[in-house]
Amino acid sequence: MANTKYIFVTGGVTSSLGKGIIASSLAALLQARGYSVTIQKLDPYINIDPGTLNPYEHGECYVTNDGAETDLDLGHYERFLNRPTSQANNVTTGRIYQTVIDKERRGDFLGKTVQVIPHITDEIKRRIQLLGNTGEFEIVITEIGGTVGDIEALPYIESVRQLRWELGDDCLVIHLTLVPFLSATGELKTKPTQHSVKALQESGVQPDILVCRAEHELGDDIKRKLALFCNVKKEAVIESLDASTIYEVPIMMHKEKLDEVTLKKLGLPTKNEPDMSRWREFLTRLKYPEQEVEIGLVGKYVELKDSYKSIAEALIHAGSETETKVKVRWIHSEKLSPESVARQCKDLDGILVAPGFGERGFEGKIATVHYARENNIPFLGICFGMQAAVIEYARNVLGWKDAHTTEVNPEAGHPVIDLMAEQKKVTNKGGTMRLGANDCKLKKNSRAASIYGREVISERHRHRFEFNNTYLKDFEDAGLLASGTNPETGLVEIIEIPTLSFFIGVQFHPEYKSTVANPHPLFVNFVKAAIAKSNSSNA
Ligand code: GLN
Repeated sequence: MANTKYIFVTGGVTSSLGKGIIASSLAALLQARGYSVTIQKLDPYINIDPGTLNPYEHGECYVTNDGAETDLDLGHYERFLNRPTSQANNVTTGRIYQTVIDKERRGDFLGKTVQVIPHITDEIKRRIQLLGNTGEFEIVITEIGGTVGDIEALPYIESVRQLRWELGDDCLVIHLTLVPFLSATGELKTKPTQHSVKALQESGVQPDILVCRAEHELGDDIKRKLALFCNVKKEAVIESLDASTIYEVPIMMHKEKLDEVTLKKLGLPTKNEPDMSRWREFLTRLKYPEQEVEIGLVGKYVELKDSYKSIAEALIHAGSETETKVKVRWIHSEKLSPESVARQCKDLDGILVAPGFGERGFEGKIATVHYARENNIPFLGICFGMQAAVIEYARNVLGWKDAHTTEVNPEAGHPVIDLMAEQKKVTNKGGTMRLGANDCKLKKNSRAASIYGREVISERHRHRFEFNNTYLKDFEDAGLLASGTNPETGLVEIIEIPTLSFFIGVQFHPEYKSTVANPHPLFVNFVKAAIAKSNSSNA
């Protein structure tokens, strides 16, 4: 096989320009031309992983099959490529330093002074090439977090410089920047981009391609000017206008020839045009829906929508699949009470209670479950949301007013959600939850089985607490069905109420596995139930 090609994506001028979406879009286009591609994210913070970060800090924590707690951009990579990522796809400065320091303690450096260059940069380069060396990928795209010029990003940029030198034509650098529009003068301004390219050049890295975020078309003059000042070819100045949906970006990037320019620069054949037909169909269904439903998303981090990124995207995928516009009403669980719930959930076609941790807002989630169950509103509870559904059922159907999760009340009279023995021994918070993919066996004739159309499924987990099987029989006798269980441990993974139109709680996170090519069946069926509800209310 030919050498693996490495593409680096750096960012300039400001953060939040959407490096992850650009990297994903380019990867999707290259994949659609027949190349095997993967994407990796390097995060310049000291945490080992984002697992212990509050979602307000960094948005959602995305979990891979192998149980890595990672940056939310990996969710985009999987959604765009329909190919699983792993721990190797996300590396933080903390992890780099930890590896180097562990080596130093073992004596691997034979008495040498351990330094940023070469020891830290060597470890960064090793991590970058790890995916390429598997032989699985022809192209590895590495997204470098942060913005050029940040102190934290320096060792990464230096590693890019070294790799470029070592790998020559097998390497390419794409710099994503902002070309702001000054409304006072009615002009697009190139100076911030010139400065950020200069900052890259000072670190010895010359970008090959500029992708320029702009609110207005760049036009030939601006492209020429950027090319001249930044040492890139004019055709390598790519315009990236604001899109109505992130799923439009690959199509826009193809129009701008980002994929073609990339392949040319890497010396790879442009082969055939990318086959984006299924992608386009997805997009058309998304943009021209036939109906609309409104889903309430109840969580405690709703001020920052990125906290529920994968859920929001899974709902969008389900909307495309069913040709339905899925409007989301974001509801703060802390502001919900038994008194306000009817008002706040008025006219909703479906209610989704989101994952979460800790006491804050939990009673609001219980009140919402109660409202959804009593009014037969399609309900999907994910992780903490499923646990809330179990507790609500225990309190209001089984009559155990003291039912709770021991996460919130360790002294609960009926600890219907509790820690399993192995979690009781855990003292460190980082990386110690039940993480990653587990099998789940579905009960014949259950709604879950008919939704998945299979007997055994695999879904990803991220939680410490579990359904307490001591009470399983009581629940089943009272009409709550455990329709999915872990075949090895017997732990309950799915609950449903068969007498209601759609009431499902899942201990795992189905949202992580929904992609453009494969919208997740649970979300699709949840949206279908919402459509049915909406039609019956309008009838
Ligand atoms: N806090 C719950 C637990 O740890 C649920 C976690 C979640 O929703 N991801 O079990």
